[in-house]
Amino acid sequence: MNSGSLRRPPGAPPSDDYAIMVLLVDDQLMIGEALRRILTSDPNIDFHYCSDPTKALAIAKEVRPTVILQDLVMPGVNGLDLVRDYRKDPLTRDIPVIVLSTKEEPTIKSEAFSLGANDYLVKLPDRLELIACIRYHSRAYLNQLQRDEAYSALRESQQNLVEANLELQRLTKVDGLTGLGNRRYFDEYLQVEWSRSMRSQQALSVLMIDVDEFKRYNDRYGHLAGDEVLKSVAATIQRHCRRSSDLPARFGGEEFVVVLPDASLEQVMHLTERLCRSIEALSLPHLASTVSTHVTVSIGAALTIPIQGRSPLQLVDIANKALYQAKAAGRNRAVVQGGVD
Ligand code: GH3
Ligand code: MG
Ligand code: MG
Repeated sequence: MNSGSLRRPPGAPPSDDYAIMVLLVDDQLMIGEALRRILTSDPNIDFHYCSDPTKALAIAKEVRPTVILQDLVMPGVNGLDLVRDYRKDPLTRDIPVIVLSTKEEPTIKSEAFSLGANDYLVKLPDRLELIACIRYHSRAYLNQLQRDEAYSALRESQQNLVEANLELQRLTKVDGLTGLGNRRYFDEYLQVEWSRSMRSQQALSVLMIDVDEFKRYNDRYGHLAGDEVLKSVAATIQRHCRRSSDLPARFGGEEFVVVLPDASLEQVMHLTERLCRSIEALSLPHLASTVSTHVTVSIGAALTIPIQGRSPLQLVDIANKALYQAKAAGRNRAVVQGGVD
């Protein structure tokens, strides 16, 4: 084999930067020599020769020529079977094949084309005709590879766009400070879960969670420290929302909400109680509070089985009223309204 100087990295398809690469598969060394002389006289052609037809496919896969010149009659191997093999292998499937035959024979010619040969020349072809034919098929092949590359680049940029849109969509649902759902997402989610619960006649609950005496906290420790408290409270709420259908969100300011589909009254009471205790157990100092020496929250919760004619806003309103009862009763506690109708 004669390897030229313009070798591609292994596995890389030929591109515009590379010369035409010819692989001749012919058992007759004389033909090999004759074609080598013809083709290497052109500086843009890189010539490879394979005299053993049993190795032709492997060599074609390694060299990745831009054109294969294929002899038809070889000992033990039919050249047309080789054409069929090139067409089956993904690495050689699209490489143009020019069949070299000893005679102009319409039946063989027709069979060669039907198996996927791209051209048919009689040995030994005229130098000018052979080079023109090789150039023509190489150019077509390289153009096709470039189109494939352009196509996959297009696919990649489309994929990036889809991912960017998904990220944008996610960001429109998230509260920037706490990472919980935002108010808009809460409204959407509540509406969806309301309809779902109405169809399945399962309970739907809403929790309203409000930081106690938070204005005093900001006044004493500063707004930035206040933001850190909101993040810690949000993370604690998030941790207690174990089911994928539970949605914790920031309702606004220092108020949080949780949409809790399909939970029993007992489960809601347990959850609200655990939330109060866990937030107190964060032990975030709040010396300006009249309730405790640490940050605490009050929670109002409402549970219902949705029915026609009612709206999820009523459920939020009832949870809100329960929250104010919890505030009025001394804060750092939960009030749950079950079986709201
Ligand atoms: P209550 O126990 O009755 O809930 O008293 P409160 O002081 O928590 O309630 P109020 O509604 O009077 O005050 C809420 C405070 O929350 C006032 C506001 O400055 C503060 N706040 C709202 N949003 C933010 C925020 O994003 N960051 C910080 N640091 N503070 C906020
Ligand atoms: Mg508050
Ligand atoms: Mg408030």
